Amino acid sequence: MTHLPAGVLSGTDYHYLIKRAKEEGYALPAVNVTGTNSVNAVLETAAKNNADVIIQLSAGGAQFYGGKGHPDSFNTRVLGAISAAQHVHLLAEHYGVCVVLHTDHANKDLIPWVEALIDYSEDLFRDQGIPFFTSHMLDLSEEPIDFNLEESARLLKRLSAIDMSLEIELGITGGEEDGVGSEDNLNNPSLYTQSEDCLRAYEALSPLGHFSLAASFGNVHGVYKPGNVQLRPEILKAAQELVQQRCKTDPKPLDLVFHGGSGSSKEHIKEAISHGVFKMNIDTDLQFAFARAIADTLEQNPKAFKYQVDPETGTPYKKIYDPRSFLRDGEKGIVERLTESFNVLGSAGKSLAF
Ligand SMILES: [Zn+2]
Repeated sequence: MTHLPAGVLSGTDYHYLIKRAKEEGYALPAVNVTGTNSVNAVLETAAKNNADVIIQLSAGGAQFYGGKGHPDSFNTRVLGAISAAQHVHLLAEHYGVCVVLHTDHANKDLIPWVEALIDYSEDLFRDQGIPFFTSHMLDLSEEPIDFNLEESARLLKRLSAIDMSLEIELGITGGEEDGVGSEDNLNNPSLYTQSEDCLRAYEALSPLGHFSLAASFGNVHGVYKPGNVQLRPEILKAAQELVQQRCKTDPKPLDLVFHGGSGSSKEHIKEAISHGVFKMNIDTDLQFAFARAIADTLEQNPKAFKYQVDPETGTPYKKIYDPRSFLRDGEKGIVERLTESFNVLGSAGKSLAF
């Protein structure tokens, strides 16, 4: 096998994609999406760069996708995520790239959300042999590690039965991502995951199915004043070596995920990838790129966002306030910034889709 079918991946196809990325030393950007604008911009960028990509939704993103105004926030979060998954399943193949479809941070309170999504995937798997998502994330890093690993094991058994994977988190990513975590933790020693905890996770989870691991090496969600946290990618190397040695595995047995990478230097990113990071989450920088591009249009055409027809010249402004115009500018902002990420992560030109 050297290539994969274009579209949403699951099971062994997903494992193969990870293996190739780690062997060839590149990582895929994992982009948080909130609607068709961001989804389509991500697919467009992946296709233009001949790259595979990871599309993910936070619980908040899924709720927005389902409609912020609906009073039943729980079911809107569930249906929004399924709606986004259906959209991506329909269009990924059309764009000709491989897509990993994933949900982001789910803390203890959000376990019922993840389980409701697994219910949907179990039904789809029964009917069509595929799940809605490639993997889900369970972030119980703020809970005791015993609870983290027990719950992760419980869900991984369900996921593995339907060709799905689980992403877990050990140690904490600093800052706050869409309501999960907080900005008060920037001096916490848990910002650096212990190798022994990675070993425990590997021993507990790898017999049950495929999992990926967000291990903290000083990463922080969002963009803060530079210098308040120190990235130490060598922590990832130590974890890989400990697991390899104790469990007698091939090199780099852990499939690692880089959270909170906004504003990281290229050197740190490349070093993290060399230690087995295959997925780098990108949210904040793309939010800014989208907003910045729309703000440019607003600043250049202030009257078009105040009047339908210019009060002095009589010029109609419909072409400028048509949402397809300024939202497209936002999409172009995403395309430009995400193209940079594909290049920094080394995944441009590496699509495995045939
Ligand atoms: Zn994160």
